[in-house]
Amino acid sequence: ADSSVTGVTADDHRGMPAHSGEPLVVLDSVNKHFGELHVLQDINLTVHRGEVVVVIGPSGSGKSTLCRAINRLESIDDGSITLDGQALPEEGKALARLRADVGMVFQSFNLFAHKTILENVTLGPIKVKKMKTAKAKELAMSLLERVGVANQADKLPAQLSGGQQQRVAIARALAMQPKVILFDEPTSALDPEMVNEVLDVMVALAKDGMTMVVVTHEMGFARKAADRVVFMSDGQIVESADPDTFFDHPTSNRAKDFLGKIL
Ligand code: ADP
Ligand code: MG
Repeated sequence: ADSSVTGVTADDHRGMPAHSGEPLVVLDSVNKHFGELHVLQDINLTVHRGEVVVVIGPSGSGKSTLCRAINRLESIDDGSITLDGQALPEEGKALARLRADVGMVFQSFNLFAHKTILENVTLGPIKVKKMKTAKAKELAMSLLERVGVANQADKLPAQLSGGQQQRVAIARALAMQPKVILFDEPTSALDPEMVNEVLDVMVALAKDGMTMVVVTHEMGFARKAADRVVFMSDGQIVESADPDTFFDHPTSNRAKDFLGKIL
């Protein structure tokens, strides 16, 4: 297997049992409009505990809206979204608690510019989870260690490279001990030489059994880390298959066209 993209072989993740089979995030007939635009069209998607679902598709197909809907950053018009069997609350404390269970890593790292790396990671656990400062620092340092930036803990975000900042953003998401992490094009804003250091961290998370939904154009990552690839086009899920099936035998013309342009 080609290990050049992430430094791991294809079998590293997919050789293991993919997931426990238990549904964690369930979207049932979800629809959303932006005015006239039907941006999510009857979306049915189940993400199982421990599963890595990679979402790909052309720009404007609704991938970010899908992620934002799962996190309630966007409302939906009809259908339902449940997390671990619970409906997503509309607002209030219940929503804040639920958001803590859904980590999010964005294209733009969204770190707090005037807080240190360590503070960026401890803030959520202290404010939202009411964790004691000392314990939050201990947790944060272990996570910064895990993503390889512990030695940057006292710096400000601007002093770090983009790849380092994105790894901090992943540590910050992990600090909330989420049930699932949504990644929305986490490497798209990075200089090419920094893409792999972020993908490597994501592959390691996947191997550790983290449930992940990853919107990406990194097909090497999709091949290697995904349990399932979901192809979106024009607000619809057009295909959903294991990566080898999807990349080697796409069935729809839309997927064939898309793959023809990017591969
Ligand atoms: P993707 O992430 O696949 O590129 P998006 O989910 O960002 O797609 O966007 C899907 C479509 O919805 C695009 O046509 C986009 O312009 C539109 N859109 C996204 N957010 C809004 C919004 N807040 N208001 C109106 N239109 C939006
Ligand atoms: Mg997007």
